[in-house]
Amino acid sequence: MDKKDMKLTIGHLYPDLLNLYGDRGNIACLMKRCAWRGIEAQTVEFNTGDEIDFQDLDIVLLGGGSDREQRIVCKNLLAIREQFKGYVEDNGVVIAVCGGYQLLGKYYKTDEGPIEGLGLVDIYTEQGEGRLIDNIVLESSVCEMPVVGFENHGGRTFINDNTPFGKVLYGAGNDGESGCEGVVYKNVIGTYLHGPLLPKNPQVCDWLIQKALERRYGATELEPLDDSREKEANEYIYHRFVKQ
Ligand code: GLN
Repeated sequence: MDKKDMKLTIGHLYPDLLNLYGDRGNIACLMKRCAWRGIEAQTVEFNTGDEIDFQDLDIVLLGGGSDREQRIVCKNLLAIREQFKGYVEDNGVVIAVCGGYQLLGKYYKTDEGPIEGLGLVDIYTEQGEGRLIDNIVLESSVCEMPVVGFENHGGRTFINDNTPFGKVLYGAGNDGESGCEGVVYKNVIGTYLHGPLLPKNPQVCDWLIQKALERRYGATELEPLDDSREKEANEYIYHRFVKQ
């Protein structure tokens, strides 16, 4: 099938509440990397109260939020839990960041009481002492380049036997102790890496696009793009924080 006939729909869930650190920049990156390859992509924003039909969606972005916002959004998420679960089990692609990542799990226990999660992935989060705030560098099985980013979270996430998104080379990760960061379950990535995760890590962006195209159109090869500037920036960060 010609790439020109391929179309992807990105669903941005609850940007009215889950929008910390400009997580929506990840949408711009997905759209642009599709456009550069002649793949038509559109983004639909769903704010709290909007109806969502997961059958129309190829990639879902769930951004970060404060505990207060998570508590509010949780009610909306629980109302769509079954449909969302069906989408995930059907290999739907999801990128969930920080607060959104925590909400993929069973619960997030805070000092003000628990916030119930979607239970889409067998993980849970508990508030710890102090916040984990720093740059972070990972080695991830989803791409060759090290993954670089920034984290800021009070919750500590425990992923049981699930596969982490990456091994921590610098930074705190899921709980500051396990050496693991994030989770990968089917075509879902959950991660604490905030802000421009995908612009900084184009190979992670391409992993999501590839999985979405495979699911809707069968196997397809993504045309390589010139990522030399991102590679250069990435190597700088790697040498600055990991290999000094
Ligand atoms: N409220 C959550 C925490 O502090 C998530 C924060 C975030 O999305 N940055 O752990």
